[in-house]
Amino acid sequence: MASPMSADSFLGALRAEGLTVVEVGDWRHHNRDHKGPWGPVHGVMVHHTVTSGGARTVEICRTGHEDLPGPLCHGVITKDGRVHLVGYGRVNHAGSGDDDVLRAVVAEKRLPGDNEANTDGNRYFYGFECENLGDGEDPWPRAQLEAVERAAAAVCRHHGWTERSVIGHLEWQPGKSDPRGFTMASMRERVRDRLK
Ligand SMILES: [Zn+2]
Repeated sequence: MASPMSADSFLGALRAEGLTVVEVGDWRHHNRDHKGPWGPVHGVMVHHTVTSGGARTVEICRTGHEDLPGPLCHGVITKDGRVHLVGYGRVNHAGSGDDDVLRAVVAEKRLPGDNEANTDGNRYFYGFECENLGDGEDPWPRAQLEAVERAAAAVCRHHGWTERSVIGHLEWQPGKSDPRGFTMASMRERVRDRLK
């Protein structure tokens, strides 16, 4: 259980982890806080966007769409490995997920399968959307995967969490497939090694 970092701390943590960070518009105050709570925070969630093109991807994640207003995450990780900050606070990325998964994340234990959508994830998770078509064929460049690793590690390092606090959307919400193209187990190993 932890209070969310300030926007400045979040930015600082990402930069301290060696990331190239792009600040998009008034990201510090762009959020969905009027729709519900933000925090306490328990983990980091990784997504793919099902989009292509860095600029277009960032814009979609910033503004969202008619049935799902943005921001759709805190940071967008484009294929070039840059992290674009589009929002901060409560954002529309996690949807409803499994309370048993949340309990495992809090306890930093092995994740159970996700078979319920009964818990508000936007309250509890930092969210990173990654530019990828999510078709299992669109490649994940080395720079992009390294940025996912660094971004997740930055948040874990700040809060004193282990790699077990990093999950994929597909591990949270039944029916979700993201991220597709690498395994969250492999990403957690990378985060664990980075945090050593
Ligand atoms: Zn997702």
